[in-house]
Amino acid sequence: MSFNFDNSYFRDLPGFYAPATPSAATGPELLIWNEALADRLGLADLKEGAAGLISGACLPQGADPIAQAYSGHQFGHFSPQLGDGRAILLGEHITPDGARFDVQLKGAGRTAFSRNGDGRYALGPALREHLVSEAMAALGIETTRSLGVVLSGEQVARQSLQPGAVLARIAKSHIRVGTFQFFAAHLGPDQVRQLADHAIARHYLAAANAANPYLAFFEAVMDAQLRLIASWIHVGFVHGVMNTDNVAISGETIDFGPCAFVDTYSAKAVFSSIDEHGRYAFGNQPVIGRWNLTQLGSALADVVAEVDPQGVEAMNALLAGYGERYLAVWLNGVRTKLGLTRAEAGDLDLANRLFAAMEGQGVDFTNLFRNLARSLTTGREAVTAMFVDTQKIGTWLDDWHARLAGDEAMLPEARAAAMNVVNPLYIPRNHKVEEALAAAIDGDMAPYGKLLEVVTNPYLERPEWADYAMPAPAGAPRCVTFCGT
Ligand code: AMP
Ligand code: MG
Repeated sequence: MSFNFDNSYFRDLPGFYAPATPSAATGPELLIWNEALADRLGLADLKEGAAGLISGACLPQGADPIAQAYSGHQFGHFSPQLGDGRAILLGEHITPDGARFDVQLKGAGRTAFSRNGDGRYALGPALREHLVSEAMAALGIETTRSLGVVLSGEQVARQSLQPGAVLARIAKSHIRVGTFQFFAAHLGPDQVRQLADHAIARHYLAAANAANPYLAFFEAVMDAQLRLIASWIHVGFVHGVMNTDNVAISGETIDFGPCAFVDTYSAKAVFSSIDEHGRYAFGNQPVIGRWNLTQLGSALADVVAEVDPQGVEAMNALLAGYGERYLAVWLNGVRTKLGLTRAEAGDLDLANRLFAAMEGQGVDFTNLFRNLARSLTTGREAVTAMFVDTQKIGTWLDDWHARLAGDEAMLPEARAAAMNVVNPLYIPRNHKVEEALAAAIDGDMAPYGKLLEVVTNPYLERPEWADYAMPAPAGAPRCVTFCGT
């Protein structure tokens, strides 16, 4: 089957985008085709022509290529005029089971919103996005996906000349907090309402029947965002650039620029070269989530108040309750990570004390949870050996065991197995990612292919993959990631 386009954003929201024509490819070559995703989307037949398709050299029938307008707060400062500067939306594909997905070509050339940019995507960042977004999907985290990557055949100028690439991004939509900000800043409530109605119809149908649909919409986006951020924290993911233009209304993780997974746990972990003040540090992400939602609230305020003047106050009350809702969702996830099946009053304290015990101890975040499970059958040494100061963690282990004793009765092996279903063994470790990208840029895709296979099968232990579960070797350079590359 080929594309089954129904381009509702193009049709319903004229004036919210600029027409765009892909222009990146001179000699496109297919580098990666995501067979499993293509199957799920009903697009398996496209493999043959995928190079032309993903590069934008061949426009499929039914496509209406556009660049979407948006604004955004970047590191806290408002940029009124952003938009798809290097991405072109082909349209919305309807899958055989009726689901709707944006198909977007990232790196397909300049658009009306490119400003001084070249509209191109370099191979390294494109491969990073493919790898990390597919790893996130395998971890069960809401995320945009990648259908494939092509080499465009062109060189792009970054710090040095690099091979150019185009990635086909699949998303529930590309509507962002920044999209709402654009229409609130440049136009007015009529356009914001139009966009909200479109987003409600696409993502939060139940809100349409609420007394104040726009308030209900706001609440639904808030819940989706706090769930998303909690799921990042559960696996040690640092998004790295949580600007409001990188916050999807659908609740999917979007924009894998300077992202990374924490290796050694620290709430302050930052990888992005431009995040000097730690605004988007690992442990700060929930707080920034609320800040971003406050911006969405501002953009929606007039439309919410039109239905009900008390609505803005209600929105503020929702924001005031964000922290409590977030903690509840986060704690539920931590319970599962710790093998707990019931909720008890002291759980928040227990969870907080584990994270506090990890701070400054050089503990590998991913391996800690696997070793907690292992310790149930092999003894505490599996955990205490990871810490410099064994006293704090020793006390914590005592408390955890006391708590487990009062939980649902379970054989240690069964509890360990339940924990291993949610605690990944293989995540995209920074040193492995860097190694694989460097080899790929030199033309050797083998390490990248292997890493992709490993991180898209994150839970089941395989002896031959032992190396992928190891922390970076001592003396490995600290990982620094770059934005907008
Ligand atoms: P990002 O850092 O990817 O979230 O991008 C921030 C803004 O810069 C968005 O409006 C992008 O479309 C734009 N942008 C990033 N890289 C480029 C590029 N190479 N050419 C044109 N626009 C770009
Ligand atoms: Mg972005």
